[in-house]
Amino acid sequence: MCIDIRVEMEEILELNDHDLGDGDILYQNDDSEVPLDNTFDMTLATSHSYLGDNLQVLRGRTLLDNGIYVNLPLWPPESTQPRWLVLFPGGTLPIVARNSRPIEMLRQCIAKDRTFGVVCVRDVNSVGTTAEIYEYTEESLMHGLEEVRVKAKGRQRFKIIRIKNTTGRIPVADVRILPEVELGAPNYESRIASLDRLRGPTTDRNIKRLNKVAKIDSAITPWPSWVYHLYDPNRLSAKIHNYLKFLQSKGGNIPSDPTELSFWVAQNLVITPKTALSLLEIDSVIFRLQREEKLLRKLANNIFVCKRCGAKVARQTDVFQMNEEGVQSAYCNPAGAIHETITLHKAQSLVLDNAPASTEYSWFPGYAWTIAHCGGCRFHMGWRFTATRRDLKPQSFWGLTRTSLAWGERESHYCDEWDSDDENNENNDQSDTEFLPPYSNIH
Ligand SMILES: [Zn+2]
Repeated sequence: MCIDIRVEMEEILELNDHDLGDGDILYQNDDSEVPLDNTFDMTLATSHSYLGDNLQVLRGRTLLDNGIYVNLPLWPPESTQPRWLVLFPGGTLPIVARNSRPIEMLRQCIAKDRTFGVVCVRDVNSVGTTAEIYEYTEESLMHGLEEVRVKAKGRQRFKIIRIKNTTGRIPVADVRILPEVELGAPNYESRIASLDRLRGPTTDRNIKRLNKVAKIDSAITPWPSWVYHLYDPNRLSAKIHNYLKFLQSKGGNIPSDPTELSFWVAQNLVITPKTALSLLEIDSVIFRLQREEKLLRKLANNIFVCKRCGAKVARQTDVFQMNEEGVQSAYCNPAGAIHETITLHKAQSLVLDNAPASTEYSWFPGYAWTIAHCGGCRFHMGWRFTATRRDLKPQSFWGLTRTSLAWGERESHYCDEWDSDDENNENNDQSDTEFLPPYSNIH
């Protein structure tokens, strides 16, 4: 079933009525309030508490020198695992491993320096991010099966130099740790120091004064002040914060440090692996921020639509934060499938399964989940989470997978990064593993 995104909602609903099964609930127009009084403890989602409370903490941190060549085992170690995950420094990767090769790899890492490389299998010959295991546990399941659960943190970017023969073995690569080029304001050295008392943080409140000071600074240089602004990490960060004001107004916690912000944006934007990898390749924080500012500017008024049929699902401003790390994080289900999931307080044209809501393995403790499909084409979109306590706010929200969403209104002013075939064909074929809900009975 293919529906143009411009079709009226009434038409979509007519089609949906025909497709609905017994007990299915169609959310034609969710009228949830903006969650200004969020009482959920976001650290529960950040800590991935669904992985259990018996994980052993591994202390210490491995920091590899910029530019050095190292040998890293690669995740995922099996070609059958998701191909679209791009981890950025600062991001958390939860892993549930039950197959022998991933378990062997994780055990080797834990015994050594706890570090492995995360690569997007689809483009394995490019860049990746080191991940450091900081918590883990092992358990014996029924029928002689074993399970290793791990939490790992993205640390440093790397360039793949060579992948060694992987036939039947854990893939290993020679990689070069990429530098993180952090520069200050480009005209800092040539500034008029006597004006320093008039400077300050780049905020809306200060901007007029800062612009005047910048003009005076640039008067003794060959370039006008606006040229310097293009390469000023604080100016770029302020512009990005401006695009994300709607998140901050709902209690969002967005980093102010330019480097942290550049990775936060890359991890939290709904973008394809191709675009994510192009951001991960950039060594300079300034150039990464420039690219992200351009993306945010072009997507400012766009909407989320179903990736398969184009049905309108939500506005960008419906996104809000339920995890301290951001609005979009990777979560793992018991079968090992990793879902990059974005949280929204409001969505539409989604259909819920008629199975009772379940609290088992919930990524958001205190909330029960129900599987949600697109009302237009039945594509798996994510889950609706409903509070199990009356005092919990919000009482409900949506967690939609990044791979189920695309940007709407693309026919009018869509930027080139989003128009390639890769963007459209990335993941329309969802594997059985990818479909699995947060909890499943696979043991
Ligand atoms: Zn659809």
